[in-house]
Parts: sequence; structure tokens; C-alpha cells
Amino acid sequence: MLEGIEFNRKVEAAVFDDRSSAWVLTSSNGDVLTARFCVMATGCLSAPNWPPIDGYEDFGGEILHTALWPHDGFDFTGKRVAVIGTGSSGIQSIPQIAKQADHLSVLQRTANYSVPAQNRPLDDAYVARAKADYPAMRARQKATASGIDGRFNTESAMSVSERERNAEFERRWQEGGILFTAAFGDLMTDHAANDAAVAFVHDKIRGTVKNQNVANALCPNNIIGGKRLCVDIGYFETFNRPNVELVDIRKTPIKHINSSGILVGDQQVGVDVIVVATGFDAMTGALMRIDIRGKNGASLRELWSTAPSSYLGIAMSGFPNLFTVTGPGSPSVLTNMIPSIEHGVEWIADCIEHMRTHNHTEIEADQDAQHAWWNHVQEVGMSGLKSKTDSWYLGANIQGKPRVFLPYNGGLPAYREKCESIAAIGYAGFFLR
Ligand code: NAP
Repeated sequence: MLEGIEFNRKVEAAVFDDRSSAWVLTSSNGDVLTARFCVMATGCLSAPNWPPIDGYEDFGGEILHTALWPHDGFDFTGKRVAVIGTGSSGIQSIPQIAKQADHLSVLQRTANYSVPAQNRPLDDAYVARAKADYPAMRARQKATASGIDGRFNTESAMSVSERERNAEFERRWQEGGILFTAAFGDLMTDHAANDAAVAFVHDKIRGTVKNQNVANALCPNNIIGGKRLCVDIGYFETFNRPNVELVDIRKTPIKHINSSGILVGDQQVGVDVIVVATGFDAMTGALMRIDIRGKNGASLRELWSTAPSSYLGIAMSGFPNLFTVTGPGSPSVLTNMIPSIEHGVEWIADCIEHMRTHNHTEIEADQDAQHAWWNHVQEVGMSGLKSKTDSWYLGANIQGKPRVFLPYNGGLPAYREKCESIAAIGYAGFFLR
């Protein structure tokens, strides 16, 4: 009998028992746990993606994945290192590794946009002011589409002069952080507005990186904000270091990993350490790595292999009493995760409380309500510029993964309102038994 918090338990299977309306969970060490409700708080970005490259097992050195970083750190001093991948994880690791490593090869398939973090020490007065304001800050966060308390300009980028436009981009660049794309209201809906932001960032890259061939290779040619915008500490500056080289694996792809490094085309990149910064099987990966079986033994893995679907990102038809925190179809990764997670957890807790007080033992999403919500998620997601770039929002980073828009792009307030109104009228779109 398991009680309270059990550590080091990897759940391998979660099976719904139709007769008792309960979930039976089995962990890798054979423990079995039965519970009326099962809340999957398994994360949106928690299932590491190991790309199918031949030869991992042949490598004689060390292989690290950014999603599975050694807790005690890793000393790159004197090492020849290759980093595969230039998403947020690669872009944030590369400058730090470059400071230690003897030589660093950055293997880039797609150049990525990044803005400075502008991290700085916070003085005591600032920290005290922020802490005193927490409740109001959380309320302000919950009122914005992205759940971030910040400056959102609703003006159209093309309605102001080029000078004013660039001045606003420059202010955001100096402030740092992902609200760069909140500089104008239409950066994520209007191509010309987006192009203006792209031109500004390209100028920054070309002004920072001394070797213009390298600078050009680092200039992304897709939509800014299509993929999650990266935030860095000295990423582009790192390419001015004599110990750092950029390897274009779009032009010349990786052939395989061998005992002494990575074969890129016919060029051997000889290294002691390979850092795999290739991201995650996002939003659905962690759930699909558990053998989840709902009513009549239906497998979530099989159902979602053609296309995932969820009601509000919280529940799935055919899987009674199973809840997901920030599941697919919730705003989650398009927002500040903390207020989004808080919202999901509070909604689920209230729902369970409602069931207890009304003597219900089973709650299940109605298939029609789920279809309607999922279609809405697709309609909203596919209408903006985000859908025009291959990204993990669309499952495009995983071979064979169905291409659907995974998070809800309608903003946190609209989503919260929808969830609250559903609960207020007795959980519309759910069967309560
Ligand atoms: P990611 O954004 O998915 O980036 C993965 C990188 O690996 C991409 O450059 C990708 O290239 C490359 N890649 C994937 N498969 C490859 C292959 N077979 N061969 C060569 N290159 C390959 O993953 P991530 O950097 O781990 O970031 C994931 C998310 O985590 C972020 O978007 C963000 O939401 C979150 N995160 C946030 C922070 C933060 O600042 N708060 C920091 C780290 C992560 P392609 O683009 O060509 O596919």
C-alpha cells in the first residue's frame, strides 16, 4: 500500500478498471496503486527527444542530453565538444560550454531567433518591491493572453514609421526577454510586420558576428516567433571566439556518430563530448510513454497515434476520472506556465470536490464536446503565423508525429473564462455518474 509521496517511481502503465471506476497504476519496480482519480502532471516538455542518428552506442566519449543534465554539472575544461541543436537549450548552453571547452563545434540544422536575456543582479529594493506586489502581479498575469505581466503594444507595426518601429524593437532588445514579440500587436498575424522584426534581428546578428559568412548562416529565414523565441546570454557573440565553429548540417547532414565523433558529410568532427540539445516530444510525449488504457482497454497511445485530442487539455473521452494538467489543447506552453498550471490544478481540485459533495464516482468528457473544443483549438492555432513554421507546437520535430496545433492559442483569459463557465453550469460537456 503506497501512501503520501513516493519517490523514484516511474509509472509504466495506468489502466482504468471499468467495474470499480478506478485507475490502477503500475510502476517500473512492480508497485501497484489504485486510485479513484488520476491526475497526470507529467509536463509539456519532459519527454526528451533522441533523434534517430546511427551510432550513439559506438561513441567512445561522453554523450549528454540537455534534458537529462547531470545534477552535479559537467566540466568541459580541455574537451573537444559538439552540440547538436540550436533551440533554447542549445542556445543557452553554447556560450557557457564555449567558455570552458578547448574547442566547440555547433551543429546547426535550422538557424534560430534569439534575443538577449539581459540578466542582471537585482537590487534589494527591487526584490522587496516585487515580493510585496505578488498577489497583484499574479492577477495582472492572469489577465494577459500570454500570462505574462508586461508591456503589450496593440499598435500595428506598419502604422508607424520605420524609425519609430526600430526604436521600439531596440527598447525591447535592451530590456531583454521574449516580450520582444509584444513590440507590436500584429507581429504574429501580419507578414509585413513580422518581416520588419526579422530585418531588425538580422541586423543585430550581422552587427555582432564578425565573420559575415558565419553571421549569414546564423540569420534565420523563417518567421520570428513561429518557433518559441529563444533568450540568450551572449549567444551570437560566442561565434567570435577562436575556439568555436559553426557546422551547417542543413547543407551537409550528419551521416552517423562513430567512435571518435560525428561524421558530417565526409568531414569527421572529432570530439570528446557530444551534447544532444534536440528538445522534447512535446505535450503528448510524456503521456504516450505511459501505457494508458481507458474504458474497455482502449489505448491512448493507439488513439493518439493518428491525432491527439482532448477536452480543454484537461480530460479525454473514453478515459474517465483521468485529468491532465496543461494537456494538449490548453494554452500551457504559449503562456507563462505558472499561472497556467495553477489554473489547471485549481480547476481539477474544484471538480473533484464537486464530485465528492454530489456523490459522483465518475466524470468523463463527452466526445462531441471534445471534438468541438479540439476543432476550435485547430482553427485558432492554424490561423496565425505560428502555424507557418515547422515547430514542436505542431509536432513537426518528431518523425511521424501527426501535424496538429498542440497548445491553445486563444489566450489565457478566454480559456479561463471557458473553463469557469463550464464548471459553473455543472460541468457542461462532461458526463457525471
Ligand atoms: P527545440 O527548441 O525543439 O530545439 C531542438 C534543436 O535540435 C533544434 O535546433 C532542432 O533543429 C535540432 N534538432 C532536432 N532534431 C535534430 C536532428 N535529427 N539533427 C539535427 N538537429 C536536430 O528544443 P529545446 O532547445 O530543448 O527547447 C524546447 C523548449 O523548451 C523551448 O522551445 C522552450 O519552450 C523550453 N526551454 C525554455 C528555456 C528558457 O529560456 N526558459 C530554455 C530551454 C528550453 P530544427 O530546428 O532543424 O528541427
